[in-house]
Amino acid sequence: MLSEKMVTLGTKKSVIREIFEYSKKRAAEIGAENVFDFSIGNPNVPAPVSIHETIKELLDSRDDYYLFGYTSAQGDADTRAAIAANLNERFGTSFGADNFYMTCGAAASLRIVLGALTLPGDEYVVFTPYFPEYRVFIESAGATMAETPANPDTFQIDFDQLAASVNEHTKGVFVNSPNNPSGVVYTEESIRQLAAFLEEKSAAYGHPIYLIADEPYRELVYGDVEVPYLTKYYKNTLVCYSYSKSLSLPGERIGYVLVPDEVENARTVYAAVCGAGRALGFVCAPSLIQHVIAKCAGQVSDLSVYKKNRDLLYDSLSSYGFTCVHPDGAFYLFMKSLETDAYAFCEKAKKYELLLVPGDDFGAPGFVRIAYCVTTAQIEQALPAFEKLAKEYFA
Ligand code: PLP
Repeated sequence: MLSEKMVTLGTKKSVIREIFEYSKKRAAEIGAENVFDFSIGNPNVPAPVSIHETIKELLDSRDDYYLFGYTSAQGDADTRAAIAANLNERFGTSFGADNFYMTCGAAASLRIVLGALTLPGDEYVVFTPYFPEYRVFIESAGATMAETPANPDTFQIDFDQLAASVNEHTKGVFVNSPNNPSGVVYTEESIRQLAAFLEEKSAAYGHPIYLIADEPYRELVYGDVEVPYLTKYYKNTLVCYSYSKSLSLPGERIGYVLVPDEVENARTVYAAVCGAGRALGFVCAPSLIQHVIAKCAGQVSDLSVYKKNRDLLYDSLSSYGFTCVHPDGAFYLFMKSLETDAYAFCEKAKKYELLLVPGDDFGAPGFVRIAYCVTTAQIEQALPAFEKLAKEYFA
């Protein structure tokens, strides 16, 4: 006898993974250059040169015990101190090393936070569209996910919908800005309003409602756009960060949970985070890359390619008649499907070798996600295919 839930999770691939596998198969048949795969958020921009240099320098100067040995469970102290110093410099905060718990990326951070906070009967609010793995993390932690539609015209928070979702069982609200899949950045006004709303509801229900800031795309914004630092607006904020996108290191599995001192009973919450990491078997985050982060905290990959891709794709798709909310960040564009059934639309797109992801798994049927963390050349080559696809509908 096995856990049916786990068998299902392990057998039923995510739609994104399925398309990614199809893409590899198709590339073997007709050549990778003829397949326009926009399915997965795997950064194509290389990691900064300093990451390579730091790894080489560490390998040349340090022994294996330092490089590959266990670090303390919460992470190497120098790494945590370097991250704190960098955030304090950028956001005027006053974090210290002991506010951080190093993790294997944002996915682990989120699951650990959920493990730390969740009691039977708890609910978490998630705005649609959302990162599909939220459901896996929330339900495996024993909680329920309350899907809450964002404003369909802007993908900003819809406060009426939020008010309808929050009740005495609400333990936390997920905020992912810049957003996967919409690319939208929540305005400072939205964040202020959200903070005031959660203060009021926490007081009314007599327990904190945590804001869970899922921030793998924090640095990926284009143009003059500010991403408010949430701990400055709401005290019960837990930050789940990852270097997967900002440093193009998704396979290295490195990130952190930040528990600011302002969180109610912060040291107990931090202990619960450490306990959840232990219970989930993480032991410690990978040590070599922790040491690299200690020296490279605050650096980012060259994001100019994403901006160029965003502009080219958004302008071209709009000119063909497609509509989508202008994305200010991340590297996704969330476009309206040209027919009600986004799966059928994606099948039509496949005829032109365009691989797009239906919005249904993001909680937003009728949309498709386009991941533009690809080469600009791929976008240029794919544009005629998008134009032909549009013509099928507008002819
Ligand atoms: N949260 C969001 C919104 C994401 O898009 C992703 C990855 O794409 C993650 C979390 C997980 O990130 P990581 O690969 O660092 O675990």
